[in-house]
Amino acid sequence: MKTRAQRKHTLTKKHGTLDQLWGRAVLAKAHGICVICGRPNSMNPHHFILKTRGKRYRWDIENGLCLCFMHHTGGLDAAHGGGLRFTDLIREKRPDLSEWYEKHRRLNETLGKYSPTLEDLEEIRDQLKGIIEAKP
Ligand SMILES: [Zn+2]
Repeated sequence: MKTRAQRKHTLTKKHGTLDQLWGRAVLAKAHGICVICGRPNSMNPHHFILKTRGKRYRWDIENGLCLCFMHHTGGLDAAHGGGLRFTDLIREKRPDLSEWYEKHRRLNETLGKYSPTLEDLEEIRDQLKGIIEAKP
């Protein structure tokens, strides 16, 4: 029988593994193409709805943007470069993604806390692995 602390440790380890898998799956799904500028070999998976906003979208592949360095952290209009310009940029360049974001950002706030079980996490892991291993 595992203690509460041991169970928490197991979950935290799984979260880290899922974060890595999620990043790989986001890049694989986008074939490493920046969703803003189309630059190839873009290796920056970005959480559209930030992972600090809870677990509901933390490992959701739809919540992942494949970005080049400039659009992730390096440029003035980068996702982590101030925010507002990036939001404008994505609305202009990718209205489809912008629409998804606005809808799910609101949902995430209204639905409240989401605490996945170990079984949920294993299901998420298998889905992400499937995306990574899918042949192009
Ligand atoms: Zn880019």
